[in-house]
Amino acid sequence: MTIDCPKCNHEHEPTGLHEEDSGEWECGVCEFKFIVLVEYDPCYSSSCVTHEWGEWGWKHGLAENTEGRWCGFCGAYELR
Ligand SMILES: [Zn+2]
Ligand SMILES: [Zn+2]
Repeated sequence: MTIDCPKCNHEHEPTGLHEEDSGEWECGVCEFKFIVLVEYDPCYSSSCVTHEWGEWGWKHGLAENTEGRWCGFCGAYELR
């Protein structure tokens, strides 16, 4: 994600700090001044209070001889 100048579309690297990134910026190329609003897309994840664990078993992607079990509802897993 970059901060683009609304005038010339020059891409500026955000600092990653909310206070630094939001507010007035000046384009490094055309010196156009613009306002930056930092917006966040909310991201939600959910899982069970008590998982419904299935049988212990192997699953592709796990190291050999590693057993795990998966929750039938939310897909959480734990390794034995
Ligand atoms: Zn510009
Ligand atoms: Zn679960």
